[in-house]
Amino acid sequence: MPFIITDPCIGTKDTACVDVCPVDCIHPRKDEVEFDQASMLFIHPDECIDCGACVPACPVAAIYDSAEATPASQKSLVEANKVFRAGEVETVTRAEAIVAAHVTAHPELMAIAPADRAAAHGK
Ligand code: SF4
Ligand code: SF4
Repeated sequence: MPFIITDPCIGTKDTACVDVCPVDCIHPRKDEVEFDQASMLFIHPDECIDCGACVPACPVAAIYDSAEATPASQKSLVEANKVFRAGEVETVTRAEAIVAAHVTAHPELMAIAPADRAAAHGK
């Protein structure tokens, strides 16, 4: 079960999780061309080894430990994590379309500061 990054990353995107991931499966990194275009970071589901190191590293509690544990309000972002592939430039556009739809669908969450957003996710 891969870990999932959700919407508190939008507006934060500090890459703290990238620095602790032992298998470099969180992208885009700051040194990747897609970084500026991405609103948030994504975990490659086939590469994540479920170590859990990224969860305490995230300052805004954006990371859930499985798709099943991801709250209903965040489910669309499970697909965004899956779609993005570093080095495949067209995938950032596809992932960003999912993120944009999520933002449009959840103005109530986007109105909350990223640090407080996870508390409003519900289940
Ligand atoms: S759970 Fe571990 S392997 Fe998976 S994204 Fe987080 S730090 Fe990387
Ligand atoms: S640590 Fe959290 S907010 Fe920072 S980039 Fe990773 S998921 Fe996003």
